Amino acid sequence: MAIRVTVWGENVHERKNKIVAEIYPAGMHAAIADALNNDAGVTASTVTLQDPEHGLTAQKLAETDVLIWWGHAAHGDVADAVVERVCDAVWSGMGAIFLHSAHFAKPFKRLMGSPCNLTWREAGERERIWLTSRNHPIAAGLPDHFELENEEMYGEPFGVPDPMETVFVSWFQGGEVFRSGLTYKRGAGSVFYFRPGHETYPTYHNAHVQRVILNAVKWAYNPAARLAEPSAAPNVPVAEALEPIEERGPRLHHDGEEGFR
Ligand code: ZN
Repeated sequence: MAIRVTVWGENVHERKNKIVAEIYPAGMHAAIADALNNDAGVTASTVTLQDPEHGLTAQKLAETDVLIWWGHAAHGDVADAVVERVCDAVWSGMGAIFLHSAHFAKPFKRLMGSPCNLTWREAGERERIWLTSRNHPIAAGLPDHFELENEEMYGEPFGVPDPMETVFVSWFQGGEVFRSGLTYKRGAGSVFYFRPGHETYPTYHNAHVQRVILNAVKWAYNPAARLAEPSAAPNVPVAEALEPIEERGPRLHHDGEEGFR
């Protein structure tokens, strides 16, 4: 069975900005999904911020193996209930890929638990992306480095937790560097952050960038069944301990109670 990918697009600048609309006439989410659908092992669909529940109903998430998120101008318009639902799906085992300005997307910040801030400059400068983990599956088929002639600069320090692995770093013409491909495990879910993709440049039409996203989908895919309650914290009464034990000392809680949150 093909990996079911849902590409979530904010879909704001594509409709409001002429330059972005010319580069991505059907939206950035459509360009990303179209590229993925060239691979027989993937079935990609799209949803947007403007859809009811932003397109991310419980049913849609249950049918999503890997969620891709691109947002920029309207992070604050994403409903907190949807953010919680997305994070719950990741903790349950859904893969998630956050692209470019999604470093400030609500679900990414919630999953990282840190400010996710960085330095930036919009000057159309050259970005050189260096592969730092040669045999990593997300880097499969890529050269040791490749260039994007026009990109927005993102620079360190990047306010994220230390990743499991750094797969790419970027150098920018103005001199800054940035950790641009980072892997995380959050609950049972695999999370990848990939830096390129400013909306006024044709980055998602670049074959190397498309390859990274396809590789990341396959890396983040988890064929195991989702965890039913990833946030459950059950009390295990003395009588149910794996080895016989005797209760000692005072206690605050009753057997089987829910405890505090
Ligand atoms: Zn940008």
